[in-house]
Amino acid sequence: MPELPEMEARRRALDAPVSAFPILKAGPAHVATLKTFDPPLSALEGRKLAGARRRAKRLLFPTEDGELVLLVHLMTAGRLKFLRSGEAGPKAPAFRLAFQDGSQLVLTEAGAKKRAGVWLLTPEEADVELAHLGPEALHIGEQRLGAIIAADSRRLHSLLRDQRAIAGIGRAWANEILHHAQLSPYALSRELDTAEVERLALAMEAELTRGLELRERGANDKRTYRVHDKLGAPCYVCGTPIARVDYEEHTVYYCPQCQTGGRVLKDRRLSRLLR
Ligand SMILES: [Zn+2]
Repeated sequence: MPELPEMEARRRALDAPVSAFPILKAGPAHVATLKTFDPPLSALEGRKLAGARRRAKRLLFPTEDGELVLLVHLMTAGRLKFLRSGEAGPKAPAFRLAFQDGSQLVLTEAGAKKRAGVWLLTPEEADVELAHLGPEALHIGEQRLGAIIAADSRRLHSLLRDQRAIAGIGRAWANEILHHAQLSPYALSRELDTAEVERLALAMEAELTRGLELRERGANDKRTYRVHDKLGAPCYVCGTPIARVDYEEHTVYYCPQCQTGGRVLKDRRLSRLLR
């Protein structure tokens, strides 16, 4: 699933093109993709978008007149593409927005399961839809992160992925951040000392910034990730092979030397004794 760096890079790329021309036609949308019916999509026609915004892993496209907001959540398999006038697009996209100059914004989703979503909302409804989200992970700052960490006793990998606590991080960047911070994915939030909280804050900033820069240059997953999905590859710090463990419904990648003091983490689904 695209996370904060991927979605922010996408937002920056879409900001100017989606606001260049008024909307000619909104839709069609796959019945499973469009999550709202009032106002209808046709309410967008003739209006201009103010640009692209982002909140957590969602993209928002407010209209210039301030009356409507188009919200897009790509989930795991959704892709959002801007096609210039005359550029060939998919035959049956999950959602399409056509602009008056012939350009299009298209949402596609591979696979039979349609999980990506499009909502057409008023700004007030959009606020309600996003109200559960915690502060943005990028530029969160040590103080605010410290308060979140102290609020609850949680395993770090799980806490970083919890959108209600911190918004924008998923399993891939949780792996990268915890490795950079030299902290165990299973470490308990409340047990971190001041130096460790500081390290985690610095690692979050450094990794999300690094990811955003790479994604803006079009880097693929292989070039972007250094720990995530790198089972057996040498750790970029110490050379130890990257290890993997199943945790909750996720696969966690980590360096047993840099992060867990040489200990191999046990599958949390099988053992509640080790961390
Ligand atoms: Zn290492």
